[in-house]
Amino acid sequence: MKDVVIVGGGASGIMCAIVCAMKGKKVTLMESGVKLGKKIMMSGNGRCNLTNKTISSDNYNVFPKQFEKFDNYHALEFFKGLGLETYFDEEGRCYPISNHASSVLDVLLNKLNQTNCEVISNCAVDNIKRVNNYYEVSTALGVFEAKKVVIATGGNTITKILDELEIEYRPFKPSLCGLKTLQSTQLLTGVRAECEVKAVIKDFVKVEKGEVIFKDDAISGICIFNLSALLNWHNIDNCSLSLNLLPQYTDKQLLDVLQTRKQSLSELTARQFFDGMLHKNLGQEILNRCHIKLNMPVKNFNLSILKNFATHLQNLTFNVCGFENNNQVHSGGVRVGELTDNLESKKYANLYFVGEVVDVDGVCGGYNLQWAWTSGYVVGESV
Ligand SMILES: Cc1cc2nc3c(=O)[nH]c(=O)nc-3n(C[C@H](O)[C@H](O)[C@H](O)COP(=O)(O)OP(=O)(O)OC[C@H]3O[C@@H](n4cnc5c(N)ncnc54)[C@H](O)[C@@H]3O)c2cc1C
Repeated sequence: MKDVVIVGGGASGIMCAIVCAMKGKKVTLMESGVKLGKKIMMSGNGRCNLTNKTISSDNYNVFPKQFEKFDNYHALEFFKGLGLETYFDEEGRCYPISNHASSVLDVLLNKLNQTNCEVISNCAVDNIKRVNNYYEVSTALGVFEAKKVVIATGGNTITKILDELEIEYRPFKPSLCGLKTLQSTQLLTGVRAECEVKAVIKDFVKVEKGEVIFKDDAISGICIFNLSALLNWHNIDNCSLSLNLLPQYTDKQLLDVLQTRKQSLSELTARQFFDGMLHKNLGQEILNRCHIKLNMPVKNFNLSILKNFATHLQNLTFNVCGFENNNQVHSGGVRVGELTDNLESKKYANLYFVGEVVDVDGVCGGYNLQWAWTSGYVVGESV
């Protein structure tokens, strides 16, 4: 009989295993893959944005109580103790000074190896059953008995087990991902632009700034990822987006600029009008949306055409019709109300949930890993 079985060797499972093993428990960490910490290695574009200078309720769908026990500064102290040197960028995002996600995983694995934690990889758990006062954990490698089980499987791979245990969860949906658009953006595929993005979500407006990346029939980029989280938090999968491609200008300044360009570029055709101002394909998209032929001489542009350009440059609209599958996290999971403050199931004693499998998700900026560290730590301590 094992003391504690942790299912899933990602950020939350590793953190939980370390803390639990440091307390002298006999811990077994089961991971379906070959290696631990796959997502840590992918995180932050390979740099691992492990937490943020500030965390607040604005950054999450729900602000979990567990941050009172272990917040971003506790996490930094913990990692410092493991030997990780970190820095904050100008937006408060925290990275290892090596700028390699492997540094984060290395220090975690060094610590894990110092404990007596048993790690079993290639060990997918497919069933968890309560038997009297212990659990039977069925895996590809056989059935294990455990006094306590911590589920740290990340997103949506766990639904069958949750259904069988009749534990309530909000359906898992891709989040922090690109958004599919009704408008085909083929012409713009691969184009990047610094924008101000205004989203009309139900009855409120959310404005995000940052780089937008256009794809065939979707748009992506960190500001779009953050909007995908917001849509999930409001349980909707459509909204309208308005991109201001030139947020540095007021309406009047933009019209002045366009009028000046008309004067100075009067020998050119419409196709060339936005050259030097916008990516060529974005310029062509504006012309298409304004129904202006590419070979129309610039000298024939009248005020109404220039005003129409200005409108589309400041309000390039898209209708969002769904989520892409390039998601960084899942929204949804075991409802916080199903769990105690120590993240133990209210229905099943000695069954715990940590990380993404819990219905807590944040926007980009290190908030999701912070939740993994926090939940892993809190359960590691209480188990
Ligand atoms: C490309 C990318 C970039 C990201 N960048 C950032 C970032 O910079 N900052 C940030 O805060 N967040 C980032 N995230 C999100 C962050 O990685 C996750 O929030 C975090 O890894 C969740 O940790 P977890 O332990 O809950 O789950 P995971 O890290 O997903 O770990 C779950 C583990 O459980 C294993 N598993 C699943 N099912 C079973 C089973 N049945 N039996 C046994 N094992 C199982 C999986 O193989 C996996 O190893 C990023 C995610 C991605 C994909």
